[in-house]
Amino acid sequence: MLVHYTLTQGNAEGEMIESTQGREPLGFIYGVGMMIPDFEANLLGLKAGDTFSFGIKAANAYGEYDETALVEVPKNMFEMDGKIPDGLLEIGNTIPLTDQDGNRFQGTVAWVGLDKVKLDFNHPMAGVDLHFTGQVEMVRDAEPAELEHGHVHGAGGHHH
Ligand SMILES: [Zn+2]
Repeated sequence: MLVHYTLTQGNAEGEMIESTQGREPLGFIYGVGMMIPDFEANLLGLKAGDTFSFGIKAANAYGEYDETALVEVPKNMFEMDGKIPDGLLEIGNTIPLTDQDGNRFQGTVAWVGLDKVKLDFNHPMAGVDLHFTGQVEMVRDAEPAELEHGHVHGAGGHHH
């Protein structure tokens, strides 16, 4: 399915988070886990030209904001050759990290103290109620190669 949408915070009049207006539409395949399940559920059965407007609560989108995912760490953890790289520890910066099993994840700098830093491991959209408005551009069956890859090929999708 190809859709044009505008994503706003809270309700249709809320602050805009992102939009496909003036760009290529979003292409996605049902049931492959690419989209938030509630997003797919709200678009199910719509045809080309149909418009939509629906909200998804934070708990059903990127989750509620979790206070325990705000973690204080020593500043010297970020030292390289005994020095913290310039501009690394600025509020809002996302810092790529690797855990002991080699999994990559990222934290956002939320607070910087004298010798400690607070990193926020919540998804940037945690705690945000989402609202989608838009229009369906096209509905078609996914091709076998698309199902295999889990994404849409061609206009609005992935180009190989
Ligand atoms: Zn592909």
